[in-house]
Amino acid sequence: MSQINIPDKLRILNSNQEVSEELISFITEKGFLKIALITTKTPNHLIANDLEVALFDKVKKLKTFQVIDSSIAYANQLPLTDFDLVIGIGGGKIIDTAKYASHINKIPCISIPTAISNDGICSPVAVLKEKQNKYKSLGTSIPVALFVPLHLIKRSDEESIVSGIGDLLSNLSAIEDCKLANKEKREYTDDYAVMVSKQAALSVYLELENYILQGKTKTQFLDENLNLVIEALALSGIAMEIAGTTRPASGAEHLISHSIDELFGGLKPHGVQVAFGMYITTFLRAELGYIPKKCFEELETIFRFVGLPITISSVGITKEQLIEIIIHAPQTRPERYTILNRVKLDKKFVNEFLEKLFESEITVPL
Ligand SMILES: [Zn+2]
Repeated sequence: MSQINIPDKLRILNSNQEVSEELISFITEKGFLKIALITTKTPNHLIANDLEVALFDKVKKLKTFQVIDSSIAYANQLPLTDFDLVIGIGGGKIIDTAKYASHINKIPCISIPTAISNDGICSPVAVLKEKQNKYKSLGTSIPVALFVPLHLIKRSDEESIVSGIGDLLSNLSAIEDCKLANKEKREYTDDYAVMVSKQAALSVYLELENYILQGKTKTQFLDENLNLVIEALALSGIAMEIAGTTRPASGAEHLISHSIDELFGGLKPHGVQVAFGMYITTFLRAELGYIPKKCFEELETIFRFVGLPITISSVGITKEQLIEIIIHAPQTRPERYTILNRVKLDKKFVNEFLEKLFESEITVPL
């Protein structure tokens, strides 16, 4: 039986005031006295100022660090040795910097995400820049608490929420690769981690299907389901904690996104890129007979509804670039066995495959 850590609190809150109150109650209860706030300067993070003011006379030491560069080198040089708690307040890069910096200094971290663009809001993983276009996935401790300012998430741009949904749905692709690696390579599968990852993604997948069936709009879905998406993203983080690896939430679709990052720099938010990867890997699985063709058709309907990419041009690349991306994808993480290992990834195969998948986009009418 393995030992895992689960955050003590997951609170979804509706004002800076509510976040302050929950935060103060938590740190008082736990006895934290020396606190480092890690944030940025953008206006959305005025919440950091409010929290700073609220915490000021409740603790012995309080210092705010404004992240200027979400790189490993930056996180390494943060002077955190004399603190007993780190609080990350901001978007994905800030939360990742806070998680990693707290981890290397062996102090706990609280996550206060102002965007939900990926499943890092409460996961034991940080993705930070190593060098130009090269990001590294680093193991961290999972945050001890997650306080989500829903009022700020509601104000964040729609693409970032759609990106969070994309990252979440991609779990369904990742767990297919878990099964495949187990079958073909006898790779250990953590069944509970896979189950949690799957249920997290399915909760949102099925709700999207309901909205489509009922003829409702995407705006209605986003208005009524942010809590569901937040909880599912938090569960996805728990799946990684249970597995001790990103495996249950990261398969070939993530390799395609990493490949986009390495070859062309990040073109779209992470969750949008992995969703595009999932669109490709799901079609490939259906073509190879691993899943029924109707799974791909269902996914396409959901992607169309929510606004995730189903064309090459919507990611801002050409077919030739996409061929390069797919061929390079397995090299971004060679140890990770995925559906891409089941085919001969040469130019001819990928070209023919893409022509089939993006038939209407590629074929120029006479
Ligand atoms: Zn991801």
